[in-house]
Amino acid sequence: MAMNCKPVPTLDERINDIRMRTAEIVNTDIIPNESRLWAERREGETFHERTEVLELRADIKEKVKQAGLWAPHLPAEYGGMGLDFLAHAYMNEVLAYAIGAASLFGVVAPNSGNQSILVKYGTEQQKQDWLLPLIDGTMESGFSMTEPHNPGSDPRSLTTAAVIDGDHFVINGHKWFTSNGIDADFFILMARVVDHDATDKKTGPMVQIIVPTATKGVNIVRGIGVWGRKESDHCEVKYENVRVPVANALGRVGEGHQAAQDRLGAGRIYHCMNCIGQMWRAFDLMVERAASRQVHGGVLADKQFTQGAIADSYIDIQTARLFTIHAAEKIDQGLQAARTDISAIKVYVPAAYTRVVDRAIQVWGAAGVSNDLPLWGMYQGARTLRIADGPDEVHKILIAKNVLGQYAKGIGWDFGN
Ligand SMILES: Cc1cc2nc3c(=O)[nH]c(=O)nc-3n(C[C@H](O)[C@H](O)[C@H](O)COP(=O)(O)OP(=O)(O)OC[C@H]3O[C@@H](n4cnc5c(N)ncnc54)[C@H](O)[C@@H]3O)c2cc1C
Repeated sequence: MAMNCKPVPTLDERINDIRMRTAEIVNTDIIPNESRLWAERREGETFHERTEVLELRADIKEKVKQAGLWAPHLPAEYGGMGLDFLAHAYMNEVLAYAIGAASLFGVVAPNSGNQSILVKYGTEQQKQDWLLPLIDGTMESGFSMTEPHNPGSDPRSLTTAAVIDGDHFVINGHKWFTSNGIDADFFILMARVVDHDATDKKTGPMVQIIVPTATKGVNIVRGIGVWGRKESDHCEVKYENVRVPVANALGRVGEGHQAAQDRLGAGRIYHCMNCIGQMWRAFDLMVERAASRQVHGGVLADKQFTQGAIADSYIDIQTARLFTIHAAEKIDQGLQAARTDISAIKVYVPAAYTRVVDRAIQVWGAAGVSNDLPLWGMYQGARTLRIADGPDEVHKILIAKNVLGQYAKGIGWDFGN
């Protein structure tokens, strides 16, 4: 089924136009070709058959570029759309409706996050060396922050050490879940700058460092298997006496934590709008099946259990969507309270997404967990998102802290703003 995306009366003409043109490509070029575009390489598949898939992807990317819809996250001077925050958020829910559509519009994590960080913090030389090749697709990248022996939910605990030795950093540390690690040409690594003889590695200022993966001492231990798969591109990496120039520091020493927060803050709105596009798709699949599947002498849609699943999912999507848009509008207006709502949607939306996909799978029965439908991937993605990008508990702690802090000043919470 095509996405039923019409102009939203409360949005300006420009954002509606972007959404409609995005939906046109999603509905015409991507959804009908989804199974071909993202099919696993089959055994015995000929080179010619694979070439057809790659050509199809290239054709769609070209169409996206011609339509002026390429790289919504990048400024125009770097070949992107130069979108403001709200327009980007509203575009995302349309993009996310089709599996893999974002990558055909030039948005591929973690490259897109790294591009935004390089735009904001990179020197001219760093932009030439790393940003431009990342944008034109001749380089790949990863973001290397989480460590196996320290809690990722508290990034201040990290102990990867960068010791300054003349005009070089000497880096030692152990990371894991560095996504895209197999193909990456460089990592943006989060480390602490510590003295050579420091015994306490937990107190030095944080810095992000560009580390080319070909540097001696960057050792990819494995692509960690996830969700039962033997391997993935989420890599365990050991940094053993890795020497890179001090000029590879991205931003100033001490700015590392803030840079990581920049990456995650607005990114959470985009993730949530992606979730909503995917919930929308799961909902369409669920209702489509409910209306056509005959069980126990009648169509599923006539059974009250199914109607309950549809109604509960409708409520989940509407609440998740309106809450996310509300948070996005607060960010757009530069309101301080946005921080609380960003954490609230980061807890609420992936959980709502999990519920909606779960119901869609149930309505489809066995087909729901089959590879014929995209629901299994959505289910895993939704569950994973409750951990990645700050687990639920960390966000709940922040919400409670902000609320309690307000009441401690003798002021109640203003839910109207
Ligand atoms: C598929 C995937 C891709 C990823 N990609 C990247 C990447 O590219 N780069 C990167 O650096 N990292 C990446 N990560 C790592 C991710 O950011 C971390 O997993 C996340 O920050 C949580 O850290 P942790 O796994 O160390 O869990 P921990 O910090 O050990 O937390 C474990 C659990 O403890 C609970 N918890 C935490 N704090 C509290 C508390 N105060 N009170 C009660 N309970 C609490 C939560 O339920 C949490 O899930 C990825 C993870 C996944 C799953």
